This record gives sequence, structure tokens and C-alpha cells, in this order.
Amino acid sequence: MSNEKTKLIFIACPSRSGSTILGNVLGQASGAVHVGEVMHIWDRGIHNNWLCSCGRSFSECEFWQKVIAQAFRDGLGTISDRMMECFKKKLIRVRDILSNSGPSFLGKVAVNCSNEREILLRLYTSIKDVSGKTIIIDSSGTPSYGLLLKNLDGFQFYIIHLIRDPRAVAFSRCVRKKKQPIGKGVHIEMGNITFGESIRDWLVSNSLIEKLFKWDVSSYLSVRYEDFCRSPFQVVSKILNSFGVAREGLEPLKNKRFLNMGNHVFSGNPVRFGNKEMKIVEDLEWKRKMNKLRKIQIEISTIPFLWRYGYLRGNMG
Ligand SMILES: [Zn+2]
Repeated sequence: MSNEKTKLIFIACPSRSGSTILGNVLGQASGAVHVGEVMHIWDRGIHNNWLCSCGRSFSECEFWQKVIAQAFRDGLGTISDRMMECFKKKLIRVRDILSNSGPSFLGKVAVNCSNEREILLRLYTSIKDVSGKTIIIDSSGTPSYGLLLKNLDGFQFYIIHLIRDPRAVAFSRCVRKKKQPIGKGVHIEMGNITFGESIRDWLVSNSLIEKLFKWDVSSYLSVRYEDFCRSPFQVVSKILNSFGVAREGLEPLKNKRFLNMGNHVFSGNPVRFGNKEMKIVEDLEWKRKMNKLRKIQIEISTIPFLWRYGYLRGNMG
């Protein structure tokens, strides 16, 4: 049996940055599986029974039921309540992160969150065993959750910092109404927030991802959503090369196409329900429909980041 570690690829980004579609595309690579926002299986899955991308509810999805049964053979007991409590309390607080450097903070998390990491180790080991895959893609997004997954025994952790233009993110979060199917015939509106909240979340999220992960250059890679949409084959090839993953099963990407099916993606953008061949198309609606003053407000608030991420070099909205 091979002693090679299972690769755990975590996509970190603010909401509405395109993590679900990037995860689905990466999940098509040979030996890979995209399982969605695993962070939310405790609340949205075990407690609220939301839909898996296979079309079944969490309690009816064979994949997830096997994963849970194998991971927690003696029953869940209070485990899911404890995990929800842990995330609700913001166990890893922003101010703690910002006052520590990445490596020293990682050591603290390993000690202070050892119980939660033990539970996550059992969960991800079970995902690996039930899926039979050696590369797990998790698109939970939240940087502090990603930190809990770093250096789990038996897993090689990699992080994709997915960056999207803050004007596009704000348009998606504040203007566009999107419905999330959570049960058969039941939808909720995906959290509409204010422009100020969207800007703040975008800034905090990207700052934390850089602070927590960028120092470890062997496991960190940043990718722009816009580059992924324009040249998916090249961008995905770069990701897989960087993380030592074979570049098989991605030929359709040369035509910007991929098969969005056969997955058990839990939580995330409704695009996960596609179950068909899909084309990757950059979402540019914000450029046409967004109020000019709003664009300027966002540009002023995020200008150092816009510059650093290459959005001010001939690429302004
Ligand atoms: Zn399923």
C-alpha cells in the first residue's frame, strides 16, 4: 500500500468568488473528488438536512451517510453540536490572527483546537475512504476553517487563494437575487448584504488568507476568478502542476467545458446542481448594470488590493 499522503486542497475566498465552479472543475481531475463546503455539514447537513448536489437530502444521500457512519462508528453524540458551537464562537478570532504571524498562530491552533482537529481528521479520513479518491477538494472558503485543516495527519494540505474583483463580488452579494434550493421544492434567498458589509468581508477575508497561508509558499497558490474563466485549461493545469497532481481528465477544458455530474457537493452555489456538461462563462453583468458611484466607492475602499491583484492595470470596470 502506498504511504503517499492524501492531498487536501482547500479553496479559500470571500463568498461569491466562484469557488463552487472551480471546485467542480478540479474535481474532474483524475483521482480527485470535490465535496463542497464541508464546514457546513454540521449545521446545514446533520441538523437542517439540506440537499446534496446529487439531488437527495443529506440524510438520504448514500455518500454522506456512509462518510458519517464510518467516521463516527459509536454515533455522533454531541459532536455536531460541539462543532457548530466552535464555529459560532469564532474560535479563531480575527484580532488573534492579525496579532500573530502565520507559523506561530498555526502552532497555537494545533494545541487549542486539538479536539476539533481530531474530529475533522476522522471526517476527512472517512471522505477519502468512502470516495476512494486521493485528492479531496474542499470549497468551504472560510480562512480560519482552512487553518484547522492544515497539517492533519496523513494529509498534504494545499490552499488556493481564489481572488475575484470586489466590484463583481459586491454586485453578486448585494444586487442580484439568488435562490438556494435547500430541500425538495424549498428555497432560501442567498444572504443579501449591504455594500459596506460586502467590502468589509472582502477585505478581511483576503487579508486573513494572506496572513495565514501565504508564508508557506510550498502550499499556497493565488488564482484570479477572471483568469480561470478566460483560460480555464491553463489555470487548472497550473494549479495541478503546483500541487503535484496529474493533469488527466481535463481535455474538455480546452473548450471551456466540463462535466458537472456524479458529485456529492454539499452546500455552495446552486451551480453545483447542474448535473450536465457545462460551459465556463465569465459573469460580467456587474460591468453593465452596476451603478457608477458604487463602483467608485468600492475602488476607493479596496485600492491597495485592487492594485496588488492586478485589477488596475488596464482592467478597470
Ligand atoms: Zn449526495
